[in-house]
Amino acid sequence: MIVKPKIRGFICTTAHPDGCREIVKSQIDYVKGKGKINGPKKVLVIGASMGYGLASRISAAYGCGAATIGVIFDKQGSGSKTASAGWYNTAAFEKYAHEDGLYAKTINGDAFSREIKDETIALIKKDLGKVDMIVYSLAAPRRTTSDGTVYSSVLKTTGGEFTNKTIDVKTGEVSEVTIPPATEQEIFATVKVMGGEDWKEWIGALKAADAVEDGAITVAYSYIGPELTHPIYKDGSIGRAKAHLAATAKEITKSISGVTAYVSVNKALVTQSSSAIPIVPLYISILYKTMKGMNLHEGCIEQMQRMFAEKLYGGSVETDDEGLVRMDDWEMRPDVQEKVSAAWNQIGSENLADYSDLDGYRRDFNMLFGFDAEGVDYEADTDIEVGIDSLT
Ligand code: NAD
Repeated sequence: MIVKPKIRGFICTTAHPDGCREIVKSQIDYVKGKGKINGPKKVLVIGASMGYGLASRISAAYGCGAATIGVIFDKQGSGSKTASAGWYNTAAFEKYAHEDGLYAKTINGDAFSREIKDETIALIKKDLGKVDMIVYSLAAPRRTTSDGTVYSSVLKTTGGEFTNKTIDVKTGEVSEVTIPPATEQEIFATVKVMGGEDWKEWIGALKAADAVEDGAITVAYSYIGPELTHPIYKDGSIGRAKAHLAATAKEITKSISGVTAYVSVNKALVTQSSSAIPIVPLYISILYKTMKGMNLHEGCIEQMQRMFAEKLYGGSVETDDEGLVRMDDWEMRPDVQEKVSAAWNQIGSENLADYSDLDGYRRDFNMLFGFDAEGVDYEADTDIEVGIDSLT
């Protein structure tokens, strides 16, 4: 089949197997080129197929030589329907890892469910005995809890309405958007989905099954960002969930012996989940232009390789005063934020290219689904039914 992107709003409903493979390969090459990290050896990555989770898995495997088990929630290709990008990414990752003699297996299903936790723990016990690192990198719109209740997260403020600039990534039009406040019920549901409850359940279940090495580290990801995004992010419904996540890290460390939990505050980047947040895509476009201009730009793989090499396993774990790992250290540099803020005040549809890197944003978005990768013939017929080694 000849696969073309079909973009519907914030999502592309097709994915390109060869493109995904090339992008995974280039992430692997990047980590290999950075040299060995004295890090974990048996790593569980929950949410391993895209974005920060995939980059974490690649960094663990190729930086630290770790055996990895990834939990994903992806769809296989069949008939004329391509698989999800995460499926192709995982197929490619496993293929390369196995060629390179690395253990890599994958569990495909809802990470929030008890069944998938049990299945994953059984695999760890059978193949690895215990894990010494657990990465929790889920970004999900909803969660079904064990009693069958479905909670849906929202991206709203928690104060009053908030109006600011936003961009239509497709047309490049800058306009104003007004974000309504979330109800208490919506905030509660967002915390259920994106807060720390499920993370703690995972670590508790692993510990109860004696599947965690003493001295293990677990890390989950968060975002803070500059003041201009605070009403929609840090002080918004998602920010409440992230505050819960940070509190959960402390709880896990205190209540589950032998495990230290960290939250890493990562850089704002184009991923499937960040593209759905109003205002943020315009901020990211400006940030890209600014950080690329200052030679400070990083993508998911650069962020995660640096997190493993320098912040988590560079000797002692490096955190700020609140115990947070700060991978947003370059994004939040005052000289970066001064430029971003000046650009934010000036930007409009008419001068977009002067202040933002919308092309870079669009390219990164397309690349999430395997499009726009270098060296891939997008006019060529390709087999969309690609298997993941460990699932076949
Ligand atoms: P992403 O959409 O690229 O990846 C999310 C992953 O979670 C995917 O692999 C997806 O398949 C998986 N997933 C979703 N629901 C699942 C389920 N029920 N079971 C199993 N897997 C499931 O998102 P991302 O941006 O990499 O986000 C990962 C984490 O990083 C989130 O906590 C997010 O808030 C955080 N973060 C993101 C940014 C950013 O700018 N993108 C910045 C800082 C922190």
